[in-house]
Parts: sequence; C-alpha cells; structure tokens
Amino acid sequence: MADNPVNAKPVELPPVLDHVQAAVDTLMAQEVVAGALEAIKRDDEKTLADQIALTEVEAPPFHEEERAKEFARRLEEFGLTATIDPEGNVLARRSGTGNGPTLVLAAHLDSVFPAGTDVKVRKEGNRYFAPGISDDTRGLAALLQVLRTLEEKQIQTVGDILFVGSVGEEGNGDLRGSKYLFNKSGIAIDGFISVDGVNVNRVLRGATGSKRYRVHMDGPGGHSWNAFGLPSAIHAMGRAIAKVGDVQTKADPKTTFTCGTIKGGTTVNSIAGHCEMELDMRSAGANELDELEAVMLPLFAEAVKEENERWGYTEEDGIKLTLEPIGHRPGGMQDDSVSVLQAARGAMGALDIPLYGYAFASTDHNVAVNKGVPATTLGGGGKEGFNHNVKEWYEPVDAYQGPQLAFLTSLVLVGVAGVTEPILERRA
Ligand SMILES: [Zn+2]
Repeated sequence: MADNPVNAKPVELPPVLDHVQAAVDTLMAQEVVAGALEAIKRDDEKTLADQIALTEVEAPPFHEEERAKEFARRLEEFGLTATIDPEGNVLARRSGTGNGPTLVLAAHLDSVFPAGTDVKVRKEGNRYFAPGISDDTRGLAALLQVLRTLEEKQIQTVGDILFVGSVGEEGNGDLRGSKYLFNKSGIAIDGFISVDGVNVNRVLRGATGSKRYRVHMDGPGGHSWNAFGLPSAIHAMGRAIAKVGDVQTKADPKTTFTCGTIKGGTTVNSIAGHCEMELDMRSAGANELDELEAVMLPLFAEAVKEENERWGYTEEDGIKLTLEPIGHRPGGMQDDSVSVLQAARGAMGALDIPLYGYAFASTDHNVAVNKGVPATTLGGGGKEGFNHNVKEWYEPVDAYQGPQLAFLTSLVLVGVAGVTEPILERRA
C-alpha cells in the first residue's frame, strides 16, 4: 500500500479498555518483555539487512515465487516449518500452549514492478534506494524480527502466531493471497495484522472496499455520412457517463466513484463501433458498496437501450453491452472496541508512539475486516518515499519502532504463558 498523509495532531479516542490496558501493563512489567524490546532496538541493523536482502530478490506481480522461497528459508532459520500454499502465500506457524487463538501476522511479498526491474539496493547518505525497498519488504523484515526476538527470548505464547508472506496485495493482484487465506485455505484465523507502509503513527481501523468494471459497448459502426442512422457506441457510453455522473453517494461512510479511463472509436468520420470505459467504485461501508453497484450497473443498460431506441435499433442489431468485473476488494468498518485495534493502541501507548492517523485504506486486511475477523494494518517503522515508483527509498529513522509495535501488539493479543491471557477471542 501507499501511505496516506496523516494529521500532525494526535487522534482523540476514548481510552483503551481496562482489560487491554491491564494486559499491556502486566507485559511491560516483565523483564523478558523489556529485554525483548531492547533486543529489537539492538537488532535494527539485522532487520535492515533482511529488508535489503529480500528487496534484491525480485517479486513482480503474479510471480512472487523467488521471494517467497527466500522468505520461507529465513523463517525456517528460526526453527519454524514454512510451507507455500497453492496460491503462493508463505505460511509458518509458531504454536502457543494450545487451545488459544490464532493471530496472523502478515506482510506482502509482491511488488508493483515488472520482471527485469533493477532491484539492487543503493545507499546514499542514510537513504537506501531500490524499487520495493519499503513496500513491503519492510513489513517482511519486521515479521522476521518479531520471530527472531520471540525465539531469542524463548517466549511461550498462549495463542498461535501464523507468520504469512502474502501474494497479490498490489493492484491487479486484487488481494488474491489474502482472499485465498480466508476463503479457501480452511485455516481458522481469529485475528489479522498486516505490516505494510512504514508509518507507526497510524492504525487502520477499517477497509475501503472497491469494485471495478470495464464497460464495453459494441455495435455495427459505419461511415458518419453514408451509414448515418446507426447507433454509436461512443454516444451510448456518453449517455451512460452522464447518468453515472449524477449519482449521489453518502459522505459517511465515504462512498465514491469515477469513470477513470475511456477509449473508443476509430476516426472522426466514423460512427463508433466500440467504446470502453473503466469504472471505479469505493466505500468504507460494505453495504454501501453493494448499494452503489446496484445503482450504477443498470445505468449502462438504460443508456444502451436509449441509444438503440433513438435510432430504431435493439441490442440484437444495435449496441451491445458487456460488463467485465476487473476488481473486487471487499471492505468494512470496525468498532473501536475491536480487540486488534485495542491491542495496537495499548501497545502504542506503552511504546510512547502517538496515534496521528486512524484511517481506512485498502490492504490485505480488507478480506479479514469484511469477514468480521478483527484486523488492522500497522507500519513497519522508518521513513519512505516514492512508493510504487522506481525512485522508491527507505530511511531507517527510529526503524525499530515498527517491529516493536508488531511484537507487543501480538503478545497482547495471543497472551504469554503464565503471564497474560489472550485478548484475542477464538471465533467458533
Ligand atoms: Zn504495500
């Protein structure tokens, strides 16, 4: 994901729930936890070395295999068994004492860059430059650091932590890794955290859902003079876009749409036989997205009918409509009291990390939120720029805060044997 700019002012929210704060306080009073947080800071260079090494293994969209293998190998170095599922996700479970909840700690393997992109990392001053150096190899490195620390300090959790390197988070990947995990893997998941983006001051409380269509209109087409009287694919699309443009949506939850691209026709003196347009619809509310889709889609059929009737045609011999779905990211909102959000905010408080952003975005956590699994996305620490651009850079400023936050949030959620009970509840 690419980060939204955040406000400079801390977000005001009711205090973290008592039982969550109690778990945070109990954990923070443990010598082993204090030592672990120090170890994460001490290992800053190791985390960065993992990040650089993983960046230099290409992971183009739909071909994350090499980085997947390398990430799996690194998880296994810490004694876990890593598997790669049929979709391409890397999975490695660190078991708790038994009967506890399962928390997924995920980061995405894929980059937006095509195969053959030069991914060699270059350092200038304190900045590291390479396509994908931050998004999301920082997240993968943060996961490895959490695991390194759990192993070094031999921390026995109550619940399980399932480490996941996911495929297909970006663009046309359409969250295929995370969709597989929740819809097809059969794995029981009680909570989900994605480490994506670097900003530790923001917590994602909800998921922006989106649905995208490529709308095709096709007809006979012909000469603008000789064949005058035929319906036009471009005129039909114009009618449709005028209707789309007039649709009203809710401000809360924010619901949006746009006709993002359009192309069609052949020459100025031809009645267009083809026109296509891409429609993007988004909402912070799951129902609102479905409602918007239900309003939008019939407008295209109406427009085609009007254009055909204007010239005495039907869809049989005139303009035909095809709606091609090209993306669906499920979305949803979560209440502030949701365990994963509470744990993250509790951990931030303990680590003196102010909350500047409490926002919605579209990441791997979308699928979880949509399914009602408590979920969020946390930052991996440090600074970044030019994500999704070959000029992408990463600067390790207070970088350890990312793995510290993921580590402490996870412990609050899954509990530590003999110290705290899991905050995360087992779902059926
Ligand atoms: Zn990302």
